[in-house]
Amino acid sequence: MKVAIVGGGPSGLYLAILLKRRQPDWPVSVIEQNSADSTFGFGVVLADSGLNRLQAADPQVFEQLIAKMNFNRVQTIEVQHHPIDIQHPAKGGAIARIDLLHVLQRIAQDVGVDVRFGMRIEHPDELSQHGLADADVVVGADGVNSVVRGAYEKEFGTTKSFLTNHFAWYGTARVFTKSALVFREWQGGSFVAHYYPYSTTASTFVAECDDATWHSLGLHAMSNEQRQQVFEQVFAPELDGEPLISNHSNWRQFPVTQNAHWTVGKHVLMGDAHTTAHFSIGSGTRIAMEDAIALAEALTAPAPADEPDLSALARLENFAQTRGPAKDKLLNASRKSYLWYEQFGDWMRRYTPYGFIHAFMTRTGRLNEERLQQQYPELFAQFQREGLTQMALAAPEPLESAHAR
Ligand SMILES: Cc1cc2nc3c(=O)[nH]c(=O)nc-3n(C[C@H](O)[C@H](O)[C@H](O)COP(=O)(O)OP(=O)(O)OC[C@H]3O[C@@H](n4cnc5c(N)ncnc54)[C@H](O)[C@@H]3O)c2cc1C
Repeated sequence: MKVAIVGGGPSGLYLAILLKRRQPDWPVSVIEQNSADSTFGFGVVLADSGLNRLQAADPQVFEQLIAKMNFNRVQTIEVQHHPIDIQHPAKGGAIARIDLLHVLQRIAQDVGVDVRFGMRIEHPDELSQHGLADADVVVGADGVNSVVRGAYEKEFGTTKSFLTNHFAWYGTARVFTKSALVFREWQGGSFVAHYYPYSTTASTFVAECDDATWHSLGLHAMSNEQRQQVFEQVFAPELDGEPLISNHSNWRQFPVTQNAHWTVGKHVLMGDAHTTAHFSIGSGTRIAMEDAIALAEALTAPAPADEPDLSALARLENFAQTRGPAKDKLLNASRKSYLWYEQFGDWMRRYTPYGFIHAFMTRTGRLNEERLQQQYPELFAQFQREGLTQMALAAPEPLESAHAR
């Protein structure tokens, strides 16, 4: 089978590696618009559960990623200047996005993937100019602005909307000792910073504010440099004099992209090209890499005895059937999380710090009271003292209405 993958991000490179490992004779090409040394963003979190799946799928990739990761179990959640440390049951790991890509690029080249950097296509038809017109499968691993998806939007059943909050993905040379989420009211506006160290020299710093703040404090009329200065002021105690660092750090509203179908003929989507997962669950990369695992399995699984010539298209259909329900669960958590964040200012003003943290930790529905007690016994005891358990706090307003445009 000949496979053409558009996009050499985490999902595209990982899929290429997994395919070549299982079927070394298949021609597998990755078309990547950037050079090997360029990317967006800074560090990303790869949670324990995701890492376990990566370990099972490809121990070599796993070992090399682990060696580059920075692990931390304690997270501070600070609400209106009340910092509360939370001991997570599992260690969260963070890695520089460029280190993640370098590991995948090196292994992809070692196993014989044809990776072509600095090559952008505008439409899948252009693959013919690169000797890939006869590919049996064309994978759209080309991220949130996927051209593979764009070429067949109607057939994929694409829907797009934008959240109302505004955010930018910065880094800083300040190496924090813990990961933290700081929710703060400043000059009447609602701000949040999500930061964590991902190497011995740098930290990720995601800056966010709600739409009311964006307009009331005039951020909508500022340049990106001025917005950065505002956030450096709001979070001056945390940054301690270190500036934020920009890497194409544009201010934007999070795009919620979904597709009714995974495949159109021989074209298949994965990762962010298929569905975006909100950064507040810190899982977009691992979800994208898990898509790659499921697609590699579907394409390389032994054909059933009653269907020895299982076609590439039938294999793509199997992928859609198996991956869809598993991904939906994660995306449901993402949805609940971003709806919660759309109202974080109201949550922050209305509840006590522990009330806020209780609402935050139970926002996706994945942590119920029982699990909270098992995994966070000290925190749970404090929730009990404040009468917060067994009680769903009222959302400030109907959640669905906060999801915009
Ligand atoms: C602020 C923020 C913080 C985040 N934090 C985390 C985190 O902590 N943990 C986590 O797991 N995830 C995080 N994510 C999500 C994560 O970045 C994405 O989910 C992940 O990168 C998706 O991987 P992908 O391979 O699908 O797409 P991408 O990483 O977007 O890769 C797509 C690749 O395709 C290339 N490409 C695009 N178009 C073309 C074209 N036309 N021709 C050729 N090449 C093309 C691009 O250059 C890119 O290399 C965060 C996202 C944001 C916005």
